[in-house]
Amino acid sequence: MTRVAIIGGGIGGLTAANALTRAGIEVAVYEAAGELKEIGAGVALHPNAMRVLRSIGVEDAVRGIAGRSQWQWTRARTGRVIARSTPAQQAASFGLTGATVHRADLLDVLAAALPDGIVTLGKRCTEVLPGGDADPPVARFADGSEATADVIIGADGIHSAVRTALFGPDAPRFTGKICYRSVIPAAAVAGKQVNTDGAQWFGPHGTIVVYPLRGTDLLNVVCHYDDDGYRHESWVTECEGAEVLERYADWHEELLRLFAAGDTWYKWALYDRDPIPEWTRGRVTLLGDAAHPMLPYLGQGACQALEDGAVLATAMAAGAADPSAGLARYEAARRPRASRVVLAARERGLSNHQSSRWAAWRRDVAIAVRRRVNRRDPEGRGTSWLADYDATSPDVLAG
Ligand SMILES: Cc1cc2nc3c(=O)[nH]c(=O)nc-3n(C[C@H](O)[C@H](O)[C@H](O)COP(=O)(O)OP(=O)(O)OC[C@H]3O[C@@H](n4cnc5c(N)ncnc54)[C@H](O)[C@@H]3O)c2cc1C
Repeated sequence: MTRVAIIGGGIGGLTAANALTRAGIEVAVYEAAGELKEIGAGVALHPNAMRVLRSIGVEDAVRGIAGRSQWQWTRARTGRVIARSTPAQQAASFGLTGATVHRADLLDVLAAALPDGIVTLGKRCTEVLPGGDADPPVARFADGSEATADVIIGADGIHSAVRTALFGPDAPRFTGKICYRSVIPAAAVAGKQVNTDGAQWFGPHGTIVVYPLRGTDLLNVVCHYDDDGYRHESWVTECEGAEVLERYADWHEELLRLFAAGDTWYKWALYDRDPIPEWTRGRVTLLGDAAHPMLPYLGQGACQALEDGAVLATAMAAGAADPSAGLARYEAARRPRASRVVLAARERGLSNHQSSRWAAWRRDVAIAVRRRVNRRDPEGRGTSWLADYDATSPDVLAG
């Protein structure tokens, strides 16, 4: 039986572990942290991701802890709604709806679905040796131990040690954009009840994304803004709520009431990385943010990691006797699509932050027209190819 070692027990690593296990492949996950944990934030799972969760048997569990998936696109200062998309429209277009969940809840569901004993905690990978046809690959850990397997998968996130070991350090470019985030109890917001549907607010120089988690109990808030002065990429650095209120002072009053109810805010700088030209060396490959870190504007980072996991399992199962061929099939199926998503996310950031009134008007008219002429594009952004993709299809390796 093929043995796969996965470095990193995040959303991508645990999805891959579930998919591989279901394909009859032996899996071991090595996670650096002392417990399986996630940052306190939400994640939007689009239909392409929900298909993967269905295929590994956890769709109902995820929907059980999700927020409602109804979306609207709104001008930030006036509150004028540009477009709306209902779950019924999404289901009609893509065959199933998306969901918005707390990242910790998603990780719990993925971990609970795995057989016992697959995840080893406290294993920080420091180096991998890629191996070759005759030699198996080796992962080395900070505690001095080593692990080997038929193949090793680097699912160790945006600052991947595995990617660095294979291809050297990456060269992130600062985008001139920053983000704030918070998770706010809906009941804590003063005054009139705020909208608890998913909403994207477009303003000059920024976008705000708000969506519900755990029914409508919590609101996940991510605020983007053009700002050249802050360069720190960490997702867990706190900032003052007053800074967020000041930054968006002339945006819609509903947003400001929501922000005022936020206890804890985090701030990070957005860095962009070009798609890399190869993912695999010897018998080691990459998955999730380690393979294709992307800007957050399409809400596809985790969705792409889920797709990777499903395709990896199909590729490895397709010819168990030759693990290297399995990795080649996986990269051939995944790298072109994930690279396209990286570039589309970059474009979406530019379009969302339009500071010129004329350009923003043209964007909004284009959204309205696209929605009218193509019922399968409820968002009106020409990106139904994202939600359409079925990583669980038996034909997925055919391209
Ligand atoms: C605030 C925020 C909101 C987002 N919203 C969305 C969204 O709405 N939709 C969406 O699709 N995506 C979203 N994303 C992106 C998405 O979260 C990431 O793309 C996704 O988490 C990638 O999963 P991953 O498993 O590849 O990496 P990670 O989730 O980063 O997991 C990597 C794991 O590897 C472990 N690790 C790291 N280094 C090592 C090492 N050396 N050895 C062993 N283990 C290691 C880490 O501890 C971690 O558990 C968002 C991201 C952020 C920050």
